[in-house]
Amino acid sequence: MAVLTDSYGRVARKLRISVTDRCNFRCQFCMPIHPVWLPHSEILTFEETRRVASLFVQMGVDKIRLSGGEPLMRRDIEQLVEQLAAIPGLRQLSMTTNGFLLAEKAPALKRAGLKGITVSLHSLKPERFSEITGGGPFNAVIEGIRVAKSNGFTPLKINAVIMRGCNEDEVADLAALAVEGDVTVRFIEYMPFDGQHHWGMEKVVSGKEILERIRERYELVPAPRPAGSTAQLYKFEDGKGEIGVITSITQPFCSDCDRIRLSADGKIVPCLFDKTGFDLRPLLRTGASDEMILNFMRDAVLRKAPGVETLLKKYEHLEHIRPMHTIGG
Ligand code: SAM
Repeated sequence: MAVLTDSYGRVARKLRISVTDRCNFRCQFCMPIHPVWLPHSEILTFEETRRVASLFVQMGVDKIRLSGGEPLMRRDIEQLVEQLAAIPGLRQLSMTTNGFLLAEKAPALKRAGLKGITVSLHSLKPERFSEITGGGPFNAVIEGIRVAKSNGFTPLKINAVIMRGCNEDEVADLAALAVEGDVTVRFIEYMPFDGQHHWGMEKVVSGKEILERIRERYELVPAPRPAGSTAQLYKFEDGKGEIGVITSITQPFCSDCDRIRLSADGKIVPCLFDKTGFDLRPLLRTGASDEMILNFMRDAVLRKAPGVETLLKKYEHLEHIRPMHTIGG
C-alpha cells in the first residue's frame, strides 16, 4: 500500500482533525480572551472533511482523532463521526474534548462509531478548574467522564496540562484517578501555544518533576513506548492502571512522529510547532481530482520539519507560537 512518507523517512499513520476553532472554555494556556473565529464559510464541511480523511486513510493513515476548539460544539458532530467511522481501513476513531457536553453526547457518539475519548481535566478543585478553564463547570466535566466510562469508550484518557504555580501540587491526586485502570491520565508539559501569552520556560513543569511528584506516592514502572506515541507511559507497580507524560518541551519525541494535522479551515499542518500549513481548501472547492489532492498531501507530508527542536531554533522567540485551539493539539 502507498504511504505518506516525509523526507526523514517517517510515515504518517495518525491524523488529527480540528473540526472547529470555536470553544466554550477559555483555558488560560490555550484560548485568547477575545478569540477571532474563522468565518463559517472557511470551515470544511462534513463532506469535505470525510473526503480528505478517506484519502489519508487510502495513504496508510489508520487512526483519526477529532479535536478543536471544542469538537462537541460542532453541530451534528455525531454525523461526521458516523461518516468517518465508515471509512474502510480506519482502525481507530477518537476525540479529545473538554467534556462539558460529553454526558449529553456520549451515547450518540458511541452509536455513531466513536471508539476512544480523551477528556481534558487540569484540576480536581472545582474553583481552580473554573479559573484555569475560564469558567468551565467542573461537575459537568466529571459527569461527562462518568458517562463516557459507562458507555465503554476505549481507550478513555484524561489530559492534564501542568503549569508551575498553578496545579503542580495536584499531580499525584490526578494520577490517583488512573490507579484502578479504567482511565489513563496523561500529564502534558505546558507548550507555547497560549492565546493569552502567559507561557514562559519557568512555567513549564518537566516530565521528570511530574514523575518525581507521582513517585512520592506510587511506585511506577516504565512501560514500552509504542512507536510514534506522544506519551511515555508508566504502570503502577500493582500492574493495573497507567499514567503518561508528554514531554514535548524537555524531551521532544519527534524522530518517530507519525502524526499529521488538518485544521478546521482545511490546512494540512505536518508538525504541531509549524506556524503555517498547506492550504488544501482551494483545491477542495475548485473541483480538484482525488489524484491532485493526493499529490498535494504527499508534498505537504514530504516537507514536514525534522522536529520541534529545529523549528524552535528557527523562531526568534520560543513564546506564543499560536493558540492551540486553532489546530487541536
Ligand atoms: N477542547 C478540547 C479540549 O479541551 O480537550 C480539545 C482541543 S485542546 C486544544 C486539545 C488538547 O490540547 C487539550 O488536552 C489541551 O489541554 C491541550 N492544550 C491546549 N493548549 C495547550 C498548551 N499551551 N500546552 C499544552 N497543552 C495544551
